[in-house]
Amino acid sequence: MSPREPAPATARRSRPAVLAALAAVLAASAVAACQAPPTPAPTSVAPAAAPGRPDGRGDAPRSERPDGSDGTVPDGTTVFDDALPAVANLDPVLRDALQDAARDADDDGVTFDVTSGWRSADYQDRLLREAVAQYGSAAEAARWVATASTSPHVSGDAVDLAQTGATEWLSGRGAAYGLCQVYRNEPWHYELRPAAVDDGCPGMYADPSEDPRMQQ
Ligand SMILES: [Zn+2]
Repeated sequence: MSPREPAPATARRSRPAVLAALAAVLAASAVAACQAPPTPAPTSVAPAAAPGRPDGRGDAPRSERPDGSDGTVPDGTTVFDDALPAVANLDPVLRDALQDAARDADDDGVTFDVTSGWRSADYQDRLLREAVAQYGSAAEAARWVATASTSPHVSGDAVDLAQTGATEWLSGRGAAYGLCQVYRNEPWHYELRPAAVDDGCPGMYADPSEDPRMQQ
């Protein structure tokens, strides 16, 4: 066959047919993509590596000490539950600031639910071990969970709030109470920064591994 000879007619005819079929497939998938996804079953929503709150409670066992003496908290704990060690052992100035903010937020219908506050060193160690297993390396785990000797939770200087309205409310108004988000990757984690009342909150670290306090 000469190179100039036209391709066989069958081949020419088949190309539009292939394109038409391809167009039909694409159209079908476009329709599928535009449809609202079905509501997933609850079991499929919870990922093995929960992207939420790795710094704290996350997928950690809710409580190994039912009395909360290790700092674990039951659902529905608020910043006013100061009979619980997780709240009672917070720095009193931090707790006062949280309660002041929570009273004002309550006027807006917002509740400050605590997912983690003070933690025992044992509890923090457990969270770290779990994070290393979950993230596969100590370096990656360090982006989310501090050691017992560096965690501001163990010293009572940090609180994690449920990511309902509270974190949204605080992100706009927290500085007025000296309450600041510290890590960009942890919008639930707040600490006291008294100077923020006048100066606003300082810039955030991308994650705890950038925090000089974690380098000890
Ligand atoms: Zn935290």
